[in-house]
Amino acid sequence: MRVTRTVAETRLTCTSVPRPLGFVPTMGALHAGHLSLMAAARKECATVAASIFVNPTQFGPGEDFERYPRNEGRDLRLLEEAGAALVFAPPSAEMYRPGASTSVHVGGPLTSLLEGASRPGHFDGVATIVAKLLGIVRPDRLFLGQKDAQQLAVVRRMVADLDLGAEVIAVPTMREPDGLAMSSRNAYLSSSERRGAARLYRALQQGVVVARLPKPTTDVLRTVEADLARREDDPAPRLEYVALVDPDTFEPAAQPHRGHLLAAAARLGAVRLIDNIIV
Ligand code: AMP
Repeated sequence: MRVTRTVAETRLTCTSVPRPLGFVPTMGALHAGHLSLMAAARKECATVAASIFVNPTQFGPGEDFERYPRNEGRDLRLLEEAGAALVFAPPSAEMYRPGASTSVHVGGPLTSLLEGASRPGHFDGVATIVAKLLGIVRPDRLFLGQKDAQQLAVVRRMVADLDLGAEVIAVPTMREPDGLAMSSRNAYLSSSERRGAARLYRALQQGVVVARLPKPTTDVLRTVEADLARREDDPAPRLEYVALVDPDTFEPAAQPHRGHLLAAAARLGAVRLIDNIIV
């Protein structure tokens, strides 16, 4: 496995590998969710490249950029075991050079609602770094997690609108045995918070049960709210939003439909949890 630190070396290496080339971008602190993206990429591609870059421009002021978990040695070992041929792990100065003045903005409800409303500027940071990485690695296929469903939709839109040429492939969310979606940020949870965090997925599951019945949207959302409001021993995540949306546009749906997304964000202690289920 080759580890590259510069744009030039990465681009050169990627031009001569067997195709199709699959690409798995990450911010490191790898868990089984990341490894499931690697496994999906390995299955479908002759070569797999990954990246590790904690992208400063997708963190808002007061978010966890400084304390985001970093452990490159462990990540590189895991990526090697997972079959990566190349890992691009640039320093920040390589990705954001002096004088840089371009960013990518995907417009519409896709970036103004839900995560876009909670985290202003976040998706501009994501779109810009993904566009840059695609320009450097030039993969045939890009593997992204369904867990970050809105990010997935934003990147799909950008790749289509800008003719970036990679096929975007969504990989299902990997969960802990109690249902909690795996996330690098789960490491910040105390043990009681960790137990309480699984309540978010259980509440979404209750919502989906209702969504699959012929009932109005409000019932679905209220079901999730009510489930999280129940008194239990473990602390409840405090709901920031719960919504039923079209998975491509993220426009709120009037009625639940097959294929719609029930998506939520909630806070527990210092951690912001997001999750979603496809109805
Ligand atoms: P991150 O390192 O958090 O930026 O995530 C890198 C990629 O892994 C993104 O495409 C995420 O959607 C994906 N990912 C994160 N958590 C999971 C999970 N639990 N299951 C599947 N994919 C995930």
